[in-house]
Amino acid sequence: MKRVFSGVQPTGDIHIGNYLGAMRQFVALQDDYECFFCAVDLHALTVPQDPKVLKEKTIELAALYLAIGLDPKKVTIFIQSHVPAHAELAWLLQCITYFGELSRMTQFKDKSKGKESVSVGLFTYPDLMAADILLYNTHYVPVGEDQKQHLELTRDIAQRFNNRFGETFVVPEPMILKLGARIMSLTDPTKKMSKSDSDPNNRINLLDEPSVIKKKIMRAVTDSETEIRLDWENKPGVSNLLTIYSLFTGMEIEEVVNKFKGQGYGTLKKELAEVVIDKLTVIQKNYKDLSRDYVLKVLKEGAERAQAVAEKTLKEVKEKMGLILKD
Ligand code: ATP
Ligand code: MG
Repeated sequence: MKRVFSGVQPTGDIHIGNYLGAMRQFVALQDDYECFFCAVDLHALTVPQDPKVLKEKTIELAALYLAIGLDPKKVTIFIQSHVPAHAELAWLLQCITYFGELSRMTQFKDKSKGKESVSVGLFTYPDLMAADILLYNTHYVPVGEDQKQHLELTRDIAQRFNNRFGETFVVPEPMILKLGARIMSLTDPTKKMSKSDSDPNNRINLLDEPSVIKKKIMRAVTDSETEIRLDWENKPGVSNLLTIYSLFTGMEIEEVVNKFKGQGYGTLKKELAEVVIDKLTVIQKNYKDLSRDYVLKVLKEGAERAQAVAEKTLKEVKEKMGLILKD
């Protein structure tokens, strides 16, 4: 069975961008692939975190994996820092990655822009991500569009390693959806929706109360025209709302555009709020039914399964690079 790996950072509240771009793919893939889904807490440390909040958000993310419909009998759900091989392989890969390659990464440029101090970890983030993926000999990586560049680098690193030290890693392929791979911010639809955006109104969180969801959608930035049509260049706000409507209802985007043609933005927003609330209420109910102990048990078992696979790959890599194995 082919392998799938993906991770989400516990850097804040999980939003519908994370869900529509990445996490809903996880659910769809769980029956046909051997899947590893990770709460990537080591990645979260690349920007400052409140330690107490980070712990809470890590468990919350794991619970959300279950609440959206991942079945721990079918997939492996775990916390990245529970499997030390991730950090170890990241170091080894840093030693075959070029400074110039990491300097070209747009996520680093975006996240470091205007900051007084930027951690080295934020710069070498793509190597940790490559380690996450390559440890499991992953064939497919379901992610949002913003991770495409990191995936290309992961492929380059895997190929470089294989050429230099002999066939070792599977060269992974990204799985990026046609629709939903880049859900835009509600307050500035030229930027992607993000957990770490300082304006909480930019995003709808999976655990937002219905009244909050409604307020955020009704206030979403659109444009000064009145016509409803799909036009990403001139009408990114309206196009984003139409896309979210299509994804939450399963209606084709053309159908959605026709449905709202000739109507006001207010109608689109009101109906969208209902659809989003309906879907998120189901996830929220599942979430509330989960006990912390159960989530911790799933994470413990997940870490054991992941560890067994990761250790094997790490040993092979160390041996090939010239390190002496202890046993
Ligand atoms: P942060 O701001 O801390 O980077 P984030 O919202 O970008 O948080 P990540 O944890 O970095 O979330 O990404 C988790 C997954 O969600 C990745 O696969 C990423 O590509 C995807 N993703 C993130 N934002 C969006 C978005 N706006 N639309 C679609 N997919 C997204
Ligand atoms: Mg991100």
